[in-house]
Amino acid sequence: MTRRISILGATGSVGTSTLDLVERSSDRFEVVALTAATNVRGLAEAAKRTHAKLAVISDEARLPELEAALTGCGCRAATGRDAMMEAAAGEAEWVMAAIVGCAGLEPVMAAVRAGRTLALANKEALVTAGPLMTDAARQAGTTILPVDSEHNAIFQCLAGNSSSDVAKLILTASGGPFRTRSAAEMHSATPEQAIAHPNWSMGAKISVDSATMMNKGLELIEAQHLFGLPAERIDILVHPQSVVHSLVEFVDGSVIAQLGSPDMRIPIAHALAWPERMKTPAERLDLARIGGLEFEEPDMERFPALRLAREALAAGGSAPIILNAANEVAVGAFLERRVSFGDIARVVERALQTIQTPSPTSIAEVIDIDRQVREKTREIMSLLAA
Ligand code: NAD
Ligand code: MG
Repeated sequence: MTRRISILGATGSVGTSTLDLVERSSDRFEVVALTAATNVRGLAEAAKRTHAKLAVISDEARLPELEAALTGCGCRAATGRDAMMEAAAGEAEWVMAAIVGCAGLEPVMAAVRAGRTLALANKEALVTAGPLMTDAARQAGTTILPVDSEHNAIFQCLAGNSSSDVAKLILTASGGPFRTRSAAEMHSATPEQAIAHPNWSMGAKISVDSATMMNKGLELIEAQHLFGLPAERIDILVHPQSVVHSLVEFVDGSVIAQLGSPDMRIPIAHALAWPERMKTPAERLDLARIGGLEFEEPDMERFPALRLAREALAAGGSAPIILNAANEVAVGAFLERRVSFGDIARVVERALQTIQTPSPTSIAEVIDIDRQVREKTREIMSLLAA
């Protein structure tokens, strides 16, 4: 039996790792659709190699280039919202959501509502629309398989256990490239320094989020929606080696952890093959060589993003949307060297303090709030620069 799959964000870090696994086990998978924002070449090459039927490019101006690149190979080139929805909820039975940011929310929701098995890497979609998404998944009987390594670890640790026996979840964090840096050093950090993650190779946005630890804040919110535990029972533990991907403590005091080398192909393969397993070329874990595993409490002073995420989660309503949108805008500005590294959390905090919007009751409202917050965050940044 082959699994018909679609990859949203096929040219990114998670997307290309997914393609790597699929191409190594081509007897198990049939690629139906691939999407990308702007990278025509990467998209067309992947579509040809995998014999995909549909390739969707978000940048409409690049459609002619994509059509030319796909001439004669039997893969349809497309652009626009309908094509993106078709990639998410058309023929595929399994969908990898690997678009970065709230931009992935609509296609993710299309897959959820259509009852496709959803492999979720795109954490921003769940952070902004958590209750709406989990409700829709329940109604449609959709399985959400977490791809984020921490949540995938917890999903694996929970297998065979009753959720009422869980005492707490412990999300591990590498601490990022600035784990041992002073606040002053961090304030003036460059994009190059922020992106140089010690353990994982990832897209630019999530790499900066790892440096501010906003990534762990978003993951805390993600964990609450995925596993339904109150925030007080979700701990964050810094673990610089990134070998223990997360842990679950049960009521009897047992703690179950999932370990592996830091290679996203392991959690992606878990989701691809689920409920079975598949081989991966990921490096095998050699604990004797690693020698020691360290753990420490996160520093809430140097990493204010952790506090901001906890506060946004506790506030509920539109606060997580504000947190996420302000962060996306501030990280984008940091990558373009328009604000300093230290400004990212300042901008997010200011956005949370000054923007007020009602709780969203639909995905359209989430998208509208996201748009408003982006505009207001740009104003906050221009005031900050003045
Ligand atoms: P990336 O920047 O490498 O790739 C993003 C992909 O999304 C690309 O294919 C790009 O073309 C597409 N894309 C970007 N903006 C888009 C838009 N506006 N509309 C449509 N498509 C768009 O990102 P990544 O590192 O692969 O991360 C993808 C998601 O997975 C993020 O939400 C991230 O937080 C999550 N994640 C990534 C990793 C990792 O190791 N990279 C680990 C855990 C979770
Ligand atoms: Mg993660």
